[in-house]
Amino acid sequence: MRVAVPTEIKPAERRVGLVPAGVTQLVRHGHEVLVESGAGTGSGFDDDAYAAAGAEVVDRETVWARAELLVKVKEPVAEEYGFLRPDLTLFAYLHLAADRPLTEALVAAGTTAVAFETVRSGRILPLLQPMSEIAGRLAAQSAAHHMQTNAGGPGLLMGGVPGVAAAKVVVVGGGTVGTQAALMASGLMADVTVLDANGARIRELNDLLGHRARVLMSDEHVLEEELAGADVVIGAVLIPGAAAPKLVRREHLAVLHDHALLVDVAIDQGGCFETSHPTTYDDPTFEVDGITHYCVANMPGVVPRTASRALANATTPYLVRLADGVEQALAADPGFAAGLNVAGGTIRHPGVAQAFPDLP
Ligand code: NAD
Repeated sequence: MRVAVPTEIKPAERRVGLVPAGVTQLVRHGHEVLVESGAGTGSGFDDDAYAAAGAEVVDRETVWARAELLVKVKEPVAEEYGFLRPDLTLFAYLHLAADRPLTEALVAAGTTAVAFETVRSGRILPLLQPMSEIAGRLAAQSAAHHMQTNAGGPGLLMGGVPGVAAAKVVVVGGGTVGTQAALMASGLMADVTVLDANGARIRELNDLLGHRARVLMSDEHVLEEELAGADVVIGAVLIPGAAAPKLVRREHLAVLHDHALLVDVAIDQGGCFETSHPTTYDDPTFEVDGITHYCVANMPGVVPRTASRALANATTPYLVRLADGVEQALAADPGFAAGLNVAGGTIRHPGVAQAFPDLP
């Protein structure tokens, strides 16, 4: 099969969907690989590294036009919708439940779209996990930065100092993002609380985080109490494939400190704060009712040297299986088949279908 890798064009997105080691694997399986010139530059891989691994380095038009299986990192943006067609399989993060225009474009084009974020392996989302690990750690780092006055913040140091209280960080959702955010924030010596709504997960978190964070079962009352004391709230809930539940509503902003910072990592699934909207690294924050919101939808995009390798470690084995035969790969593994979001002009994922009941 002809596998193609375009350069990401989303603002501040420097990751790449395939690293040279993945090219070697695909070529060994008898596949042809096309890479857009410059696609890996931001991740530390130049065109020569791809060529040496056996890829053909081509221009943008060629990469899209000749692709049979196109692997990229982020969802196609509007300028790329024109490249979608029925004989193309797309393998990337898609987050369709929060993106009606792209869902419509994929349905209209008849493209087969397999989303990284809904592929399952047991209880794990193996292709979301590495980016969630990065986004979680970055959430704490970004919060620390945006609390500083030189970033427009209120002037709080995450860990405080002896004799001065640490910042209170409340993490809503204790999955991969939430756990890594809690570990990083506690590493910065913040006063960390993690809320989750799943009893089994609460027990795991309690064992995992031990004395480093308080772990509480979330309900509306507990959430409101914790919000009242928070300096930073990190939103990290997920209902796989579905739009994120709006746990922090507009009226909650009134109970927060006026200097509080909200970091909505779940923004790629629509956000778990009612007042969130997606931002980019060019202009990452905005205020609602005086409360600063940070809602960057592609947080790992600024650490491409780490993120492209971490992503490829997880995605390349699946990519090779798709290249060997899309239908067979999905039929052989129900967890992989859960990645299928759109095919043959219809929505195939229940979470996306629920978000857009009027689409086929
Ligand atoms: P996960 O499935 O590992 O964890 C989600 C957690 O949310 C689970 O522990 C679940 O029990 C909990 N949860 C669900 N409903 C809840 C509720 N009502 N109250 C409290 N907890 C609840 O998911 P993850 O991998 O940690 O991802 C979290 C979000 O971060 C997703 O939307 C993901 O797409 C997003 N993400 C964003 C970026 C970015 O750049 N912005 C990067 C990676 C991941």
